[in-house]
Amino acid sequence: MSLTPITRDTHKTKEAILVKVASLLNSLQILSTHPLSEEARQGLTNAIHSLKELPDLLAATSEQARLAALYDVSQSLGSSLNLEEVLTQAMDAVISLTGAERGFLMLLDPDTSNLRLRAARNFEQETLQRKDAVSRTVIDSVMRSGKPVLTTDALTDPRFSSQESVILHALRSILCVPLRNRGQVTGVIYVDNRVQSGLFTNEDLDLLNAFAAQAAIAIENARLYSRTDQALSARLAELETLTQIDRELNARLEFSHVLQITHAWALRGAAAEEGWLAIWDAEVGRFDVAAGPEHGFPLETPPDHSGELPIQMTQPGENTPAQLCAPVTHAGKLIGVLLVRRRSAFLETEAQFLARLAYRAANALENARLYSAVQQANQEKSKFVSVVTHELRIPMTSIKGYADLLRQGTVGPVNEQQVKFLETIRNNVERMSALVSDLADISRIETGRLKLEPGWVQLKDVVEEIVSSLQPKFDEMSQKLVMELPEDLPPVYADRNRVAQVLTNLLSNAHKYTPNSGEVRLSASRQENKVRLWVSDTGIGISAKDQALLFTQFFRSHAAAVREQQGWGLGLSVTKRLVELMLGEIGVESELGRGSTFWFSLPTTQEQVAADPG
Ligand code: ADP
Repeated sequence: MSLTPITRDTHKTKEAILVKVASLLNSLQILSTHPLSEEARQGLTNAIHSLKELPDLLAATSEQARLAALYDVSQSLGSSLNLEEVLTQAMDAVISLTGAERGFLMLLDPDTSNLRLRAARNFEQETLQRKDAVSRTVIDSVMRSGKPVLTTDALTDPRFSSQESVILHALRSILCVPLRNRGQVTGVIYVDNRVQSGLFTNEDLDLLNAFAAQAAIAIENARLYSRTDQALSARLAELETLTQIDRELNARLEFSHVLQITHAWALRGAAAEEGWLAIWDAEVGRFDVAAGPEHGFPLETPPDHSGELPIQMTQPGENTPAQLCAPVTHAGKLIGVLLVRRRSAFLETEAQFLARLAYRAANALENARLYSAVQQANQEKSKFVSVVTHELRIPMTSIKGYADLLRQGTVGPVNEQQVKFLETIRNNVERMSALVSDLADISRIETGRLKLEPGWVQLKDVVEEIVSSLQPKFDEMSQKLVMELPEDLPPVYADRNRVAQVLTNLLSNAHKYTPNSGEVRLSASRQENKVRLWVSDTGIGISAKDQALLFTQFFRSHAAAVREQQGWGLGLSVTKRLVELMLGEIGVESELGRGSTFWFSLPTTQEQVAADPG
């Protein structure tokens, strides 16, 4: 802020001019007693007359300048909303306007009703550190009476001279005016000077009074603004809390987790002493406490749950605590209530918080309910599959056994057609048994019942075993099966039977989805603490769209070449789960019409398996 119109120097200059004018007048008056020409006398009289008017003129001019300064200061005061800034500006302006040496601005703390020093500045616009060097007596008098005080020498002023603080800071010219807000004295502006360096005048007092009225408004504005600012940050903090709650609520979908989190946040967010989350059992018509103390839940009938964020607030009575009750509803239906209590009354903000929490809890509880329903259905399905697969296995084994016996002619001669029929029976039973075995594996994996039997496995042995069993199928279609296994391949730590299952599945697929005379290549190499195997074929390939769905249950490509082959779309999903259970990885690279390469890896160290908690 630029403030130059009135300064202490201006005061001094004004005084100096007045002294000069007085002595000039004196000289002119002495001159006028001498004989002069009529013309000269007239001129002299005019000069004396003008000079006599000068002090008044000077006073009027400086008054205008003061008013202009006051206007300037008030303008710039009104333009800031930062309370600290406003207070400092106000103080600097006051010092500048009155020519004071020091200035202090004190405001009543609305919370404690104590007068607090908010700005202390000196003539050089420096912040003062000493807060005690003011006359308490003068300030108290202004605060109490609401009337300004101007004392040119507090020591001899009968109103204050006997007071200790005045005596302590004696020899000061003090000016102190009240700051008012809607009629109430809310603080004071206090300026002072050493008596030697300048006395305050009534004009200074008027000016300061006018200024104080402006400053009080600016201070009030800044204060209100900071309060809205505080309200805004409180709202932001609540939003942050709610986001955190959302994160916690959605982290896990179990019902019990949601209940526990909601209950904990209700107590914390509403600063409650006790609280319950109770679920409304509509069939029985009562509340079941789901979180909180078992006894003491005070509600028997459902609360009113209409309205967007309904909440009931009960004030504390002589022997009853304050209570907040937020219905937890979903799609207009009452799920339960969040109820908290404490001895002192709840705040509106706490009530709002609880209502919002209840709203979130309702969603999370509904999600958890759906999730648990899905999980239960899944478990039922797994149980069903496990029973069915178990029950099917025995009759299938016996069908297969009897068909073989018949075909071998053990129970009497069979003709060619009968042999064909019996082979068809056998093939179909084998297909069914493959399906049953995949389904059983999936059900075991899903329910965590699939037990691995890991050990050191020489891949070469397993590969040779599988290849020799599949070789006839490849030969049937004149497909070339090439093996490229390095001699020094380290053993892997895995379940031998499951490795065989994975290899069988990948090689069978390569065979199934490669036309006659194609080639299937099996290679391997060591990679850090893993061995990686590749099964490449020159078959039909897989489109990018289908690759994204590969490894999911029951996925089969719509390609005609795939549909020609028998299959259930379960092999790859089981394969992937098995590889992952053995802490390996699996993937594919393929191009439609050119062939596919499936790869998987298995660990060469035992630690990796041991380190896995599952
Ligand atoms: P299935 O072979 O019984 O259909 P899988 O789970 O083993 O089931 O395979 C799923 C699908 O992945 C197949 O139906 C086929 O569309 C595709 N697929 C798997 N292996 C190959 C391959 N080597 N070449 C082309 N497509 C393949």
